[in-house]
Amino acid sequence: MTIATPIPQADYLAAPAPPATPPLVDPFGRAISYLRVSVTDRCDMRCVYCMSEDMNFLPKRELLTLEELDRLCTAFLSRGVRKLRITGGEPLVRRNIMHLFRALGRHIKSGALSELTLTTNGSQLAHHAKELAEAGVRRLNVSLDTLDPAKYKAITRWGDHAQTMAGIDAAQAAGLPVKINMVALKGVNEAEIAPMLEWAHGRGLDVTLIEVMPLGKIEPTRADQFLPLNLVEARLKERFTFRETGYRTGGPARYVHVAETGGRLGFITPLTHNFCESCNRVRVTCTGTLYMCLGQEDAADLRAPMRASQSDELLHEALDAAIARKPKGHDFIIDRDHAKPAVARHMSVTGG
Ligand code: SAM
Ligand code: SF4
Repeated sequence: MTIATPIPQADYLAAPAPPATPPLVDPFGRAISYLRVSVTDRCDMRCVYCMSEDMNFLPKRELLTLEELDRLCTAFLSRGVRKLRITGGEPLVRRNIMHLFRALGRHIKSGALSELTLTTNGSQLAHHAKELAEAGVRRLNVSLDTLDPAKYKAITRWGDHAQTMAGIDAAQAAGLPVKINMVALKGVNEAEIAPMLEWAHGRGLDVTLIEVMPLGKIEPTRADQFLPLNLVEARLKERFTFRETGYRTGGPARYVHVAETGGRLGFITPLTHNFCESCNRVRVTCTGTLYMCLGQEDAADLRAPMRASQSDELLHEALDAAIARKPKGHDFIIDRDHAKPAVARHMSVTGG
């Protein structure tokens, strides 16, 4: 959906980042430099590993406004966050979301923010790619688990493969480097990982493989879906030559260079290799709930302190108290003895 009528520029577009306050450092000495913000829990797809078909979404009044999202991100920047990823749900289905991107773009221009990026399913990208680039986005992640249109429909339930491909084309045409996120699903797309690498690297796109995480209740069990990436890597090595790289994007992926295709392949392995020791991330939901760890239930409400006062004092106090509780790591396990999800909320709530 495109928003044709521009709304007037709000005051927050001009507001600079507030003066620096002490950086956010957790009890294990990890500085929080990366914030992921889910701007909506809604989505125009229903991926089988992410949501059930019949989801109950939050009433819109519960959501932070775009102004509040901007204020919150700006407060985090003043505490040392340098990298911001906008996610969801599907971020590009939130009404007027480009206003937020444009507003946050001022921090790229000022140098307060080193990266503004997003994770998207690509469905709305054809409409927004150019504007995203103009706002200051310099790369983005598009989720694509298969190149087969029928299988794409089966995995995403409501997605349209051609529309997503048009989105990727538009992003590339706008000069935005795209990284493909592919969730490895046992018996579903295992045979397509090699073709995906060849296709993506042929187009100059990086690929990151992701292990399915036990987040939220869904119809198939996680044990049915879970495909360990150490197994995938071993299989790929029969065909491709990998060279370890020190390349990092600030996220949890480990990257290799693939000699045969000349591209980069990342592995996100929360289950088979825990990467918590270097975690620099926190996540905020669209209702202003801060999760200090994707895989734990503990959270802090940032909406109440924001709404209680026009100054950010209460907000910063809430941030200090929350970061002081950031846990050492998650406890994800997927096997037949652990049928229940590690955390009850879906990935679309916390933001991937
Ligand atoms: N709608 C956008 C998209 O699909 O890219 C952004 C939100 S989505 C929750 C972010 C990422 O999380 C996607 O790459 C998706 O494949 C991944 N994801 C969703 N549920 C997951 C799960 N249970 N385990 C692992 N990855 C998951
Ligand atoms: Fe929507 Fe993204 Fe979840 Fe798929 S993974 S249902 S596109 S939020």
